[in-house]
Amino acid sequence: MPYRTIIEPFRIHSVQAIEFPSLEQREAALERAGYNLFGLHGNEVIIDLLTDSGTGAMSSRQWAGMMVGDESYAGSRSYFRFRDVIEDLTGFGEIIPAHQGRAAEKILFATVVNEGDVVPNNTHFDTTRANVEYQQAEARDIVIAEGHDPASEFPFKGNMDVAALERTIEEVGRDRVPLVMVTVTNNSGGGQPVSMANLRAVRAVCDRYDIPFFLDACRFAENAWFIKQREDGYSDKTPKEIAQEMFSLADGCTMSAKKDGLSNIGGFLGMNDPEVAQQCRNLLILTEGFPTYGGLAGYDLEAIAQGLEEVLQEEYLHYRIRSTAYLADKVNSAGIPIMRPPGGHAVYIDAKSFLSHIPPGQYPAQALAVELYREGGVRGVEIGSVMFGRPLPDGTEEPAAMELVRLAVPRRTYTQSHIDFVGEVVIAVAQRAETLRGYRITAQAPWLRHFTARFAPV
Ligand SMILES: *Cc1c(COP(=O)(O)O)cnc(C)c1O
Repeated sequence: MPYRTIIEPFRIHSVQAIEFPSLEQREAALERAGYNLFGLHGNEVIIDLLTDSGTGAMSSRQWAGMMVGDESYAGSRSYFRFRDVIEDLTGFGEIIPAHQGRAAEKILFATVVNEGDVVPNNTHFDTTRANVEYQQAEARDIVIAEGHDPASEFPFKGNMDVAALERTIEEVGRDRVPLVMVTVTNNSGGGQPVSMANLRAVRAVCDRYDIPFFLDACRFAENAWFIKQREDGYSDKTPKEIAQEMFSLADGCTMSAKKDGLSNIGGFLGMNDPEVAQQCRNLLILTEGFPTYGGLAGYDLEAIAQGLEEVLQEEYLHYRIRSTAYLADKVNSAGIPIMRPPGGHAVYIDAKSFLSHIPPGQYPAQALAVELYREGGVRGVEIGSVMFGRPLPDGTEEPAAMELVRLAVPRRTYTQSHIDFVGEVVIAVAQRAETLRGYRITAQAPWLRHFTARFAPV
């Protein structure tokens, strides 16, 4: 169509009311939550950009699918639909449902990762890192240098540093690298895509050392869209063809259907190796359920199967990636530095350069996230030293490489005027940036501390 405006490729069929807590109510909520935005109640948030995980709107076809869900304990028809859709997409012969991505990770790593192993990834997502570390193994991030430079416009900043991958394997020895993972798109590294050429190069290294290669595939469709837009030779391919090629380079994947499954819950583990799959299924029965439902209802399996087909529609992906870029334009126009170019599912504000008066040890990105909520009820999330800082033996902390506030865009949920509102909130905070102060942690858990830590203003 010859028009500039990219419209939502859907009309709204059912709506949910937003509540509007006052400034006093928001401040009281912050105090109660110990300045941890994970402690807020949903009705205390006006625009919720905490995550794009499980927060999207399902389509009428997905809801219709839920009505035909087969709740048979074993051999549910809905499982076979789920399996067939995923097999067609990924080519993997073994498809194991799980209640969400981290359950798939837990089962895979408990099966293949041993104490003292090293798992390379472009950038581990927080649950992925925690599940590797829980096996007493090391989660090593080896994204390319451009991935650490928020200003770089490199089109595939999620790429793995392939030379560093080889060095890592040489250094620790092939036997201590049970698998190599690549996260598409690279969530913790700014939602940046990984090129097909990079996936191919990682595949070649894995072949040379005979190491299995797994995708953390949560946003495979958004990654496919970026490849179509940015990589030579792909503009004429459909997102599905590109996604199929991505999966064909891997031996398996972990997947959270709460992202590009367009569903509110669910996930799966896919792989080619039937023996490893059997061990995983044994564990699945112990913790998730029978292998034809894996912790999900039959109707969830239907919703995911339908979602995995809808997510690859070009109109959807065009709208999806443009909505994120639209939010990025709003934030940029407030003079706030963001991770460039905008990622697929979220805008990442570079709090380190924006709030340079707050040292990393006082969590500048946490300070900014709190202020966006206080100002306008907008909830984002810190992705910096609260999430990824590492305690040192002397009681201090090694800060994360970047201090980001992620504003994640739920799929098919907010309209353009909601995002315009977010833009105004961001501008209001930007105007008083120099008055923002840092935080210190007053209580924390031994892992995944960002979910439950409490803070006090410095
Ligand atoms: C969300 C996510 C996970 C974990 O999935 P859950 O469904 O939240 O358990 C793993 N990896 C990446 C890249 C993610 O974005």
